[in-house]
Amino acid sequence: MNHIFPLHQAAVPITGSQEMFPVRRIYCVGRNYAEHAKEMGFDARELPFFFCKPADAVVPVLTGTLGKVAFPSRTDNLQHEIELVVAIGKGGGNIPVDQANAHVFGYAVGLDMTRRDLQFAMRDKGRPWEIGKAFDQSAPLASIHPLSETGILDQGAIRLKVNGQEKQSSDIAKLIWSVPEIIANLSEYFSLAPGDLIFTGTPEGVGKVEKGDTLVGSIAGLGDLSIVLV
Ligand code: MN
Repeated sequence: MNHIFPLHQAAVPITGSQEMFPVRRIYCVGRNYAEHAKEMGFDARELPFFFCKPADAVVPVLTGTLGKVAFPSRTDNLQHEIELVVAIGKGGGNIPVDQANAHVFGYAVGLDMTRRDLQFAMRDKGRPWEIGKAFDQSAPLASIHPLSETGILDQGAIRLKVNGQEKQSSDIAKLIWSVPEIIANLSEYFSLAPGDLIFTGTPEGVGKVEKGDTLVGSIAGLGDLSIVLV
């Protein structure tokens, strides 16, 4: 078959494998840690909700290396959100909570980079968030660790340092909605498929970063995600 141009397939390294994980869709959960919901000005008991980023927003960063991420245009308030990312290996719709972990291929450390000024401007007008959340290179992601290697992850420290200084520190056990609950609920709205990524939300401590800053995120059992903003 002839193609008028080649289409880039976003993909992420897998630890212990030469193969790459091809990215189909990126789903993100909003306000899924109580203390972060509070710092965003919301009641901690509000149900989470979903938004999306395009697959090619991913910046794959091989674990143990320093990734370069372009500082985005049109913002005076770029913020970091460190998140546990779930990689889906088996698709489905209306997935029951007690079967949801069987759909997980693995886990990774990710950053939901956010143009907070634009997100809030859109939010306050009741408009879509895309210009604040779904911009180019807005989803740096370290290597995916297969569940077969990590086991089911439902607790462990999640941290982010900016230029060596700790900014975010929590535990993934504090997710308001757990990974199986997220998968079950999301799959009521969208048919999940292999290649989908789910950013599960960020803990408190989000803040502004500048060009030249180095960000190092970590989750227990998944190693580090290290990037520099260029
Ligand atoms: Mn987020």
